[in-house]
Amino acid sequence: MPKKRTEHIVYDDEIEIGPLQLQLMLGAAWKEAIDAAVHNIFCRCGNPDKHLMDYNSYLNNLNDVILKGRCSSCMTIAARYIETGERNGIDKIADKIRRLYKKQSSKKG
Ligand SMILES: [Zn+2]
Repeated sequence: MPKKRTEHIVYDDEIEIGPLQLQLMLGAAWKEAIDAAVHNIFCRCGNPDKHLMDYNSYLNNLNDVILKGRCSSCMTIAARYIETGERNGIDKIADKIRRLYKKQSSKKG
């Protein structure tokens, strides 16, 4: 019997990022951008008061930021994309974040 997926899949082209990288990707108003995204998620439960909780942030190969967490109302997995593609010079910033990330992960191994 197929089991309902309860954990997020993190794809090979996604790297986990933290507050510093979010600030670089989203600019000075990054906290507002995250806050708006967290309170504007799609979920089938349809609860108007829901928000994204327990989330991690990722950068994908399209230079979008993805927040992966759970719906506060029904506790199933939910995700929210924040597009950054239209920002000037965002590809250079994203490349730098990726390079630093690779350096870090190669140190660990
Ligand atoms: Zn829900």
